[in-house]
Amino acid sequence: MTAQELVKKFSEYSTQDATMIELAWNFAKEAHGEQKRASGEMYFTHVYSVADILADFKMDQPTICAGLLHDVLEDTKVTPEILKKEFGDEIFNLVEGLTKIETLKFSSRDEAQAENWRRMILATAKDIRVIIIKLADRIHNMRTLDYLTHEKQAEIAYETRSLYAPLAQRLGMFQIKSELEDLSFKFLNRDEYYQLNAKMQMRYAKREKILEEFKEELDKVMQAAGISYRILYRAKNIYSIYRKMQQQNKPFEEIQDALGIRLITDSIINCYALLGIVHAHFKPVAGSFTDYIAVPKANLYQSLHTTVVSQSGELVEIQIRTDEMHRTSEYGIAAHWRYKLGQAGADRHLDEKLNWLRQWIEWLQDLEGPREFLESFKTDLELEQIFIFTPKGEVKALPLSATPVDFAYSIHSDIGDNCVGARVNSKMARLESELKSGDICEIITRKNSGPKKDWLSFVKTASARSKIRKYLREHGVEE
Ligand code: MN
Repeated sequence: MTAQELVKKFSEYSTQDATMIELAWNFAKEAHGEQKRASGEMYFTHVYSVADILADFKMDQPTICAGLLHDVLEDTKVTPEILKKEFGDEIFNLVEGLTKIETLKFSSRDEAQAENWRRMILATAKDIRVIIIKLADRIHNMRTLDYLTHEKQAEIAYETRSLYAPLAQRLGMFQIKSELEDLSFKFLNRDEYYQLNAKMQMRYAKREKILEEFKEELDKVMQAAGISYRILYRAKNIYSIYRKMQQQNKPFEEIQDALGIRLITDSIINCYALLGIVHAHFKPVAGSFTDYIAVPKANLYQSLHTTVVSQSGELVEIQIRTDEMHRTSEYGIAAHWRYKLGQAGADRHLDEKLNWLRQWIEWLQDLEGPREFLESFKTDLELEQIFIFTPKGEVKALPLSATPVDFAYSIHSDIGDNCVGARVNSKMARLESELKSGDICEIITRKNSGPKKDWLSFVKTASARSKIRKYLREHGVEE
């Protein structure tokens, strides 16, 4: 790739001035000089590949520049002063947020890793683009992991699977999450990865024909309805199949990874219309319908899900969504960022939708020490979520094995601080008991009762933990 090619790609989606991109290109190229990657390639190839991925996400000019410059503070002689002087505060802050602190300052690698995550999350609180660049950086590192030692591969792949992939999922960046998971899987379980990949390719080759037939039939039915839509096949995520095999303790042959298609249309009303048409012509599987449009997932994901039986008796999973929902589900927060640019900051929904992220970061900031930070961070990123209802039917998403105390704090800190008991599905339950998805939980409060120190030993969310600590600190309770 050349600077001109990157500029051209950028200018296809943005009207922002691209001069700075060329400057950043030349500056980074010179700064990295003769540095090489483990593959023997010039280090600079990594740098512009990250910028290229950011252009795939259609990010703005400062983000592309920061992508080009993201390793200059860590790996070259360029000082913060020079970088700031040459590229200004905005780009400098992005790059600085991505720069690790020296490992030597910490007693262990774990601690260093935790502290670096904490720094990055704090930088993300100030500017969401920091985490988007970091994910692009990680995608490229994972794509080019072949040249490192097996030990180093495993270490990086493990961190990717346990932290970056769940984070991408939480940010709604589903495409990125899948790629990170599959690449980690490849390096962590090489044999299983290649075996499964081969089996899946065989299965999909057979199924393509079935899907073609189904698609034809669907097309006929849909065209009569006069609603504009398009059909997409669903990308496969090898790791998610593997996880299913582990969870259900079954071989690949017994895993029902259904045929999946997506129907993309232009409005929410038409999503429901398409759903009606699908159900009228194909028998839906009982209990398979989920409405993530009316009740979106915490990661902003929206779609209608249903499973129907095709003419030939195969189960077909169908996801119905608007174009906007589709972009959001692939690029998540990066897509929202883009809309915001297009509408000159008029996206009220962006703020609303990013609210959970801001709040989460706020709670994380309040935690003590990097270790506790990383622990809560991991728990909150758990892929599995449970949904708990208030007696009035309001729903809260919580991590697996969350307790009534977590639930109470998720409603309001006063309710958390003053909770003394809980009724789960109308029965009294202990505060440390684990909630299950679908539970209706009613919190019993008593004025000024205050949280107890031992709650810290069983709460699961960063929010509860941070609020309990805050209360104890303010009331002079020793931990
Ligand atoms: Mn890098």
